[in-house]
Amino acid sequence: MQGAKAQMKLLEDAITERGRVKDGDVLKVDAFLNHQMDVSLISELGKEFHRLFRDAGVNKILTIEASGIGIACITAQQFGVPVVFAKKTQSRNIDGAVYTSKVTSFTHQREYDVIVSQSFLGPDDRVLLIDDFLAKGSALLGLIELVKQSGASIAGAGICIEKGFDVGGKLVRDSGVRVESLAIIQEMHDGKIIFTD
Ligand code: 5GP
Repeated sequence: MQGAKAQMKLLEDAITERGRVKDGDVLKVDAFLNHQMDVSLISELGKEFHRLFRDAGVNKILTIEASGIGIACITAQQFGVPVVFAKKTQSRNIDGAVYTSKVTSFTHQREYDVIVSQSFLGPDDRVLLIDDFLAKGSALLGLIELVKQSGASIAGAGICIEKGFDVGGKLVRDSGVRVESLAIIQEMHDGKIIFTD
């Protein structure tokens, strides 16, 4: 893929052909992205994230368990950097030195604490955030909060699928973080998915 535009036809086609719209606003992509994983396709996504952020000084990738981990690992191979994943915990009584923030799960409608050990993120790190979806922005804002607590800097966020009709993209971009989404859904209705150009 050439040029600065992030949107990938390959991913849009996979969503159209292998995705399913459920309950109006939930897109199931478990046939290729977050349950069964199409590693060749995800490999192309990783290459695209690398093309977009290769000059951004990234030395660490941060994602959130569970769906982001595979995508982050494949992306990290392109950058040659480690992956840290934020762990979800419902316990408020967390041991050890950790950064912590709160995330409301879009799919489960529940609030989690997410934690990262202070051993694995600090002021020398320049972090690329990776996740499968951006909807209301809670997951990404939770990761951004962890990075802020650590004193690391944020190179940007690489998102596979952004729901362009939801508030998250605007919230995160307005906070000053560069967001690159490989497919942006403008609308979903009657099982049809329309992408932004
Ligand atoms: P947000 O926190 O931005 O509202 O949602 C992002 C998180 O919720 C992602 O980590 C993703 O796992 C999940 N998510 C949001 N929307 C969808 C969706 O339509 N389908 C699936 N499978 N997951 C979603």
